[in-house]
Amino acid sequence: MAKVDSIGVFTSGGDAPGMNACVRAVVRTGVHLGLKVFGIYRGYAGMIDGEIREMGRRSVSGIIHQGGTVLKTSRSPEFETPEGRQEAYKNLKEHGIKGVIGIGGDGTFRGLQSMVEETDMAIIGLPGTIDNDIYGTDFTIGYDTAVNTAIEAIDKIRDTAQSHDRLFLVEVMGRDAGFIGLETGIGGGAEEICIPEFRTDIDGLAEHLERRHVQSKASLIMVIAEGDDAGDATEIGRKLKEKVGMSYRVTVLGHIQRGGSPTSKDRLLASKLGYHAVKALMVGKAGIMLGELHNRISETPLEETWARKKSIDYGMMEMARVLSE
Ligand code: ADP
Repeated sequence: MAKVDSIGVFTSGGDAPGMNACVRAVVRTGVHLGLKVFGIYRGYAGMIDGEIREMGRRSVSGIIHQGGTVLKTSRSPEFETPEGRQEAYKNLKEHGIKGVIGIGGDGTFRGLQSMVEETDMAIIGLPGTIDNDIYGTDFTIGYDTAVNTAIEAIDKIRDTAQSHDRLFLVEVMGRDAGFIGLETGIGGGAEEICIPEFRTDIDGLAEHLERRHVQSKASLIMVIAEGDDAGDATEIGRKLKEKVGMSYRVTVLGHIQRGGSPTSKDRLLASKLGYHAVKALMVGKAGIMLGELHNRISETPLEETWARKKSIDYGMMEMARVLSE
């Protein structure tokens, strides 16, 4: 592999708060080390269309606190074709780019892996997704902010729930994984948590809610991951309605979980990963995702990040049940 003296950075797939802090860290570390640093706009789509611009230290000023991504993001079906990838490679070559840092989720990493296999580029992936479902890192960039946003919303819902002694079903993101649901449920003090990793028994749930309501006459909050096996919050609400007497409301938090200023934890993780990714390229590392495990920078082969499944902490669900009794 040729010496990496020029790098490109891009964000791809679902946006996540903290991506900007990561781009800033990549650009400033690269410039500090004397590299040419290019921003690739709109993910793989911009790579194919040649939307590539050189970035300097000042071009990333004033973005560390902003959610979203200044480089924009996209989903690019074209990149999934060999022709699309060839076009992207040609554009990178034209700019003299020899190393690429991609910030995104497992789809983005699959794209990076095909570049590893088909080109001579030095490639590093960084985990940027609110879902936290990436193997090889304890946390992904954006997850902490998303959970804090969801907890803040639940705190507000609880105020109104308590005033009316109502049941609230709050739907959070998580199509395949319950990380957001579990942590939001615990932090928000929810009475019930429904996540894809655990089977939801509607009869048992209804009985439990009814008993609690009769006992305490209090408001109840359920946190439901959108991908729960019993359905989303609307569906679960409909099923419960046939069995539970108390009135209920559904709140779908949706895209507000993606937005907002990143928390200090996300800014720090993003800064560390961006910094270390450039340093790793400088010592010849490539074909890996950098993450953080037990407070140390970790390296995971790109393929493992989606081939292996990161598990939620099952003991936390048991804890949540005890604490909400
Ligand atoms: P995320 O990175 O958040 O998981 P996506 O799954 O939408 O987001 O993936 C982002 C982009 O990565 C896709 O639009 C596509 O361009 C690229 N990509 C995904 N899977 C592959 C694949 N198997 N081969 C090549 N590129 C892929």
